[in-house]
Amino acid sequence: MACITNNIIATTLKVREYEAKYGRLSNSVDLLAVSKRHSIESIKEAAANGINNFGENYLQEAMAKINALNKLNLSWHYIGPVQSNKTLKIAENFEWVHSIDRKKIALRLNEHRENHPNPLKICVQVNLSNENSKSGVPLEETEELCMFVNNLSNLQLRGLMSIPAPEPNFDNQRTNLKKLKTKFLELQEKIPNMDTLSMGMSNDFEAAIAEGSTLVRLGTALFGPRT
Ligand SMILES: *Cc1c(COP(=O)(O)O)cnc(C)c1O
Repeated sequence: MACITNNIIATTLKVREYEAKYGRLSNSVDLLAVSKRHSIESIKEAAANGINNFGENYLQEAMAKINALNKLNLSWHYIGPVQSNKTLKIAENFEWVHSIDRKKIALRLNEHRENHPNPLKICVQVNLSNENSKSGVPLEETEELCMFVNNLSNLQLRGLMSIPAPEPNFDNQRTNLKKLKTKFLELQEKIPNMDTLSMGMSNDFEAAIAEGSTLVRLGTALFGPRT
Protein backbone atom coordinates (compact mmCIF):
# COMPACT_ATOMS: atom_id res chain seq x y z
CA MET A 1 0.00 0.00 0.00
CA ALA A 2 2.79 2.45 0.86
CA CYS A 3 3.73 1.90 -2.73
CA ILE A 4 0.85 4.02 -4.05
CA THR A 5 1.87 6.94 -1.84
CA ASN A 6 5.45 6.68 -3.10
CA ASN A 7 4.28 6.42 -6.71
CA ILE A 8 2.15 9.52 -6.34
CA ILE A 9 5.00 11.53 -4.86
CA ALA A 10 7.50 10.35 -7.49
CA THR A 11 5.09 10.82 -10.42
CA THR A 12 4.01 14.27 -9.30
CA LEU A 13 7.69 15.26 -9.12
CA LYS A 14 8.19 13.96 -12.66
CA VAL A 15 5.22 15.96 -13.94
CA ARG A 16 6.65 19.14 -12.37
CA GLU A 17 10.10 18.30 -13.76
CA TYR A 18 8.71 17.82 -17.29
CA GLU A 19 6.76 21.08 -17.06
CA ALA A 20 10.04 22.88 -16.35
CA LYS A 21 11.99 20.90 -18.95
CA TYR A 22 9.58 21.73 -21.77
CA GLY A 23 8.88 25.34 -20.84
CA ARG A 24 5.42 24.71 -19.48
CA LEU A 25 4.01 26.77 -16.61
CA SER A 26 4.40 25.14 -13.23
CA ASN A 27 1.22 23.29 -12.20
CA SER A 28 -0.31 23.62 -15.66
CA VAL A 29 -0.63 19.84 -15.99
CA ASP A 30 -3.22 18.07 -13.83
CA LEU A 31 -3.22 14.44 -12.88
CA LEU A 32 -6.15 12.12 -13.52
CA ALA A 33 -5.67 8.87 -11.58
CA VAL A 34 -7.00 6.00 -13.69
CA SER A 35 -8.34 3.61 -11.09
CA LYS A 36 -9.97 0.99 -13.33
CA ARG A 37 -9.40 -2.51 -11.99
CA HIS A 38 -7.87 -1.13 -8.82
CA SER A 39 -9.50 -1.42 -5.42
CA ILE A 40 -11.53 1.03 -3.36
CA GLU A 41 -8.71 0.92 -0.81
CA SER A 42 -6.24 2.04 -3.48
CA ILE A 43 -8.46 4.98 -4.38
CA LYS A 44 -8.73 5.93 -0.70
CA GLU A 45 -4.97 5.94 -0.41
CA ALA A 46 -4.60 8.13 -3.50
CA ALA A 47 -7.29 10.50 -2.17
CA ALA A 48 -5.45 10.72 1.16
CA ASN A 49 -2.45 11.94 -0.86
CA GLY A 50 -4.38 14.78 -2.42
CA ILE A 51 -5.56 13.13 -5.64
CA ASN A 52 -9.05 14.32 -6.46
CA ASN A 53 -9.72 13.24 -10.05
CA PHE A 54 -10.31 9.57 -10.86
CA GLY A 55 -10.88 7.92 -14.23
CA GLU A 56 -12.94 4.78 -14.78
CA ASN A 57 -13.75 2.75 -17.92
CA TYR A 58 -16.43 0.30 -16.81
CA LEU A 59 -19.74 1.60 -15.50
CA GLN A 60 -20.63 -1.20 -13.10
CA GLU A 61 -17.21 -1.18 -11.47
CA ALA A 62 -17.24 2.61 -11.31
CA MET A 63 -20.68 2.77 -9.67
CA ALA A 64 -19.58 0.50 -6.83
CA LYS A 65 -16.64 2.83 -6.17
CA ILE A 66 -18.63 6.06 -6.53
CA ASN A 67 -21.22 4.80 -4.05
CA ALA A 68 -18.65 3.52 -1.57
CA LEU A 69 -16.63 6.76 -1.66
CA ASN A 70 -19.39 9.37 -1.94
CA LYS A 71 -18.34 11.10 1.29
CA LEU A 72 -14.91 11.94 -0.15
CA ASN A 73 -16.19 14.41 -2.75
CA LEU A 74 -14.08 13.06 -5.60
CA SER A 75 -14.42 14.04 -9.26
CA TRP A 76 -15.22 11.07 -11.48
CA HIS A 77 -14.20 10.99 -15.14
CA TYR A 78 -15.68 8.44 -17.53
CA ILE A 79 -12.90 7.54 -19.98
CA GLY A 80 -14.12 4.30 -21.58
CA PRO A 81 -16.29 3.75 -24.66
CA VAL A 82 -19.87 4.93 -23.97
CA GLN A 83 -22.68 2.60 -24.99
CA SER A 84 -26.18 4.00 -25.48
CA ASN A 85 -27.67 2.01 -22.62
CA LYS A 86 -25.13 3.51 -20.18
CA THR A 87 -25.76 7.19 -20.83
CA LEU A 88 -28.32 7.75 -18.05
CA LYS A 89 -26.09 6.48 -15.25
CA ILE A 90 -23.04 8.22 -16.70
CA ALA A 91 -24.86 11.55 -16.96
CA GLU A 92 -26.13 11.22 -13.40
CA ASN A 93 -22.91 10.15 -11.70
CA PHE A 94 -19.89 11.59 -13.49
CA GLU A 95 -18.47 15.09 -13.71
CA TRP A 96 -16.55 14.48 -16.94
CA VAL A 97 -16.77 12.23 -20.00
CA HIS A 98 -13.57 12.07 -22.10
CA SER A 99 -14.74 9.62 -24.70
CA ILE A 100 -17.37 11.27 -26.90
CA ASP A 101 -16.98 10.24 -30.53
CA ARG A 102 -20.59 10.24 -31.79
CA LYS A 103 -23.41 12.77 -31.95
CA LYS A 104 -25.94 10.21 -30.81
CA ILE A 105 -24.14 9.64 -27.51
CA ALA A 106 -23.67 13.37 -26.97
CA LEU A 107 -27.42 13.91 -27.52
CA ARG A 108 -28.37 11.20 -25.05
CA LEU A 109 -25.98 12.50 -22.37
CA ASN A 110 -27.38 15.98 -22.92
CA GLU A 111 -30.96 14.74 -22.38
CA HIS A 112 -30.03 12.78 -19.30
CA ARG A 113 -28.15 15.69 -17.74
CA GLU A 114 -31.27 17.87 -17.83
CA ASN A 115 -31.99 17.91 -14.08
CA HIS A 116 -28.42 18.17 -12.91
CA PRO A 117 -27.18 21.50 -11.42
CA ASN A 118 -24.01 21.59 -13.59
CA PRO A 119 -23.36 20.73 -17.22
CA LEU A 120 -21.41 17.56 -17.92
CA LYS A 121 -17.81 18.39 -18.91
CA ILE A 122 -16.86 16.81 -22.21
CA CYS A 123 -13.76 15.92 -24.16
CA VAL A 124 -14.18 14.71 -27.71
CA GLN A 125 -12.09 11.59 -28.32
CA VAL A 126 -9.96 11.74 -31.45
CA ASN A 127 -8.63 8.71 -33.28
CA LEU A 128 -5.05 9.60 -34.29
CA SER A 129 -4.17 6.23 -35.78
CA ASN A 130 -7.27 5.02 -37.56
CA GLU A 131 -6.25 1.45 -38.22
CA ASN A 132 -5.56 0.59 -34.58
CA SER A 133 -8.73 1.52 -32.79
CA LYS A 134 -12.43 1.75 -33.42
CA SER A 135 -12.87 4.47 -30.79
CA GLY A 136 -12.54 8.15 -31.53
CA VAL A 137 -13.59 10.48 -34.29
CA PRO A 138 -11.16 10.96 -37.21
CA LEU A 139 -9.14 14.18 -37.02
CA GLU A 140 -10.95 15.57 -40.08
CA GLU A 141 -14.38 15.19 -38.44
CA THR A 142 -13.36 16.53 -35.04
CA GLU A 143 -14.42 20.14 -35.62
CA GLU A 144 -17.92 19.19 -36.69
CA LEU A 145 -18.48 17.02 -33.62
CA CYS A 146 -17.03 19.73 -31.33
CA MET A 147 -19.40 22.33 -32.79
CA PHE A 148 -22.30 19.95 -32.25
CA VAL A 149 -21.39 19.27 -28.60
CA ASN A 150 -20.78 22.96 -27.99
CA ASN A 151 -24.40 23.69 -28.89
CA LEU A 152 -25.89 21.30 -26.34
CA SER A 153 -26.82 23.23 -23.22
CA ASN A 154 -26.35 20.47 -20.65
CA LEU A 155 -22.89 19.63 -21.95
CA GLN A 156 -19.84 21.83 -21.64
CA LEU A 157 -17.20 21.14 -24.26
CA ARG A 158 -13.81 21.38 -22.54
CA GLY A 159 -11.34 19.72 -24.85
CA LEU A 160 -9.92 16.82 -26.79
CA MET A 161 -8.73 13.39 -25.70
CA SER A 162 -6.81 10.66 -27.48
CA ILE A 163 -5.36 7.21 -26.84
CA PRO A 164 -2.60 6.89 -29.43
CA ALA A 165 -1.47 3.44 -30.54
CA PRO A 166 1.34 2.22 -28.25
CA GLU A 167 4.64 3.61 -29.50
CA PRO A 168 7.90 3.11 -27.61
CA ASN A 169 9.93 5.78 -29.40
CA PHE A 170 9.78 9.20 -27.72
CA ASP A 171 10.13 11.27 -30.90
CA ASN A 172 7.42 9.24 -32.63
CA GLN A 173 5.18 9.71 -29.60
CA ARG A 174 5.66 13.47 -29.87
CA THR A 175 4.99 13.52 -33.61
CA ASN A 176 1.68 11.75 -33.10
CA LEU A 177 0.58 13.81 -30.08
CA LYS A 178 1.47 17.03 -31.90
CA LYS A 179 -1.42 16.33 -34.30
CA LEU A 180 -3.87 16.46 -31.41
CA LYS A 181 -2.32 19.63 -30.02
CA THR A 182 -2.47 21.34 -33.43
CA LYS A 183 -6.18 20.50 -33.78
CA PHE A 184 -6.80 21.65 -30.20
CA LEU A 185 -5.15 25.05 -30.78
CA GLU A 186 -7.10 25.50 -34.01
CA LEU A 187 -10.42 24.75 -32.27
CA GLN A 188 -9.59 26.94 -29.28
CA GLU A 189 -9.67 29.95 -31.63
CA LYS A 190 -13.31 29.17 -32.36
CA ILE A 191 -14.40 27.78 -28.99
CA PRO A 192 -12.44 29.68 -26.31
CA ASN A 193 -13.86 27.66 -23.40
CA MET A 194 -11.87 24.66 -24.61
CA ASP A 195 -9.07 24.43 -22.05
CA THR A 196 -8.34 20.72 -21.67
CA LEU A 197 -5.96 18.61 -23.68
CA SER A 198 -6.39 15.13 -22.20
CA MET A 199 -3.38 13.18 -23.42
CA GLY A 200 -0.54 11.21 -21.90
CA MET A 201 -0.66 7.81 -20.17
CA SER A 202 1.98 6.01 -18.11
CA ASN A 203 4.15 5.19 -21.13
CA ASP A 204 4.02 8.57 -22.92
CA PHE A 205 3.27 11.33 -20.43
CA GLU A 206 6.64 13.01 -20.88
CA ALA A 207 5.97 13.36 -24.62
CA ALA A 208 2.42 14.51 -23.88
CA ILE A 209 3.61 17.24 -21.49
CA ALA A 210 6.19 18.31 -24.07
CA GLU A 211 3.32 18.66 -26.57
CA GLY A 212 1.01 20.68 -24.34
CA SER A 213 -1.11 18.19 -22.41
CA THR A 214 -3.09 19.78 -19.57
CA LEU A 215 -4.32 16.49 -18.09
CA VAL A 216 -2.35 13.25 -17.99
CA ARG A 217 -4.32 10.06 -17.36
CA LEU A 218 -2.15 7.74 -15.29
CA GLY A 219 -3.02 4.25 -14.11
CA THR A 220 0.02 1.99 -13.94
CA ALA A 221 2.41 4.77 -12.90
CA LEU A 222 0.33 5.43 -9.78
CA PHE A 223 -1.30 2.13 -8.88
CA GLY A 224 1.06 -0.44 -10.42
CA PRO A 225 0.02 -3.12 -12.90
CA ARG A 226 -3.69 -3.94 -13.21
CA THR A 227 -4.83 -7.34 -11.99
C1 LIG B 1 -6.39 2.55 -18.81
C2 LIG B 1 -6.39 3.90 -19.39
C3 LIG B 1 -5.41 4.86 -19.03
C4 LIG B 1 -4.24 4.57 -18.10
O1 LIG B 1 -3.32 3.72 -18.69
P1 LIG B 1 -1.88 3.44 -18.01
O2 LIG B 1 -1.05 3.00 -19.15
O3 LIG B 1 -2.10 2.40 -16.98
O4 LIG B 1 -1.42 4.73 -17.42
C5 LIG B 1 -5.51 6.13 -19.56
N1 LIG B 1 -6.51 6.46 -20.41
C6 LIG B 1 -7.47 5.58 -20.77
C7 LIG B 1 -8.55 6.02 -21.68
C8 LIG B 1 -7.43 4.29 -20.28
O5 LIG B 1 -8.37 3.41 -20.68
